Amino acid sequence: MSLQENLTSDLFEVDKRLSLKPVVEFNSYLANAFGEGACSCSRCQQGAGDESGYAYAHTFNFNGLTVNRRFATTAGSDVLMALKKAWLSYTKAELGTAGVLDLATIKSFVETQLHVRLVPLFLASGLVKEIDGEWVLQPQAA
Ligand SMILES: [Zn+2]
Repeated sequence: MSLQENLTSDLFEVDKRLSLKPVVEFNSYLANAFGEGACSCSRCQQGAGDESGYAYAHTFNFNGLTVNRRFATTAGSDVLMALKKAWLSYTKAELGTAGVLDLATIKSFVETQLHVRLVPLFLASGLVKEIDGEWVLQPQAA
């Protein structure tokens, strides 16, 4: 097989897995997990956007774009459900729900421009905690 044919078949292989429905849905879930502009919940309005007392961030800045997390669709259990479906369809294995989250594998089925959203969403939803520089999955309410 020529190098060109190799490249083409590799790309095709990647494209095929990335077009699986749960993978596509997880990417659009990530794209829609944040709304434009700063958070306008009552707590943020009262504090004029000062998040210093917050356990989880409400407003984020991704590549110069100010966005807010959509609480209604991004509880830890929501994020986990969307992630589990995409993970299963991409890796053909169940996502472990304890231990260190394999971010590198997740990035392999998430569009590059959405990578910046992964860790902030996982942290803000309570899905993971940073422990010794690793993203450790937290138990989620069903
Ligand atoms: Zn807020």
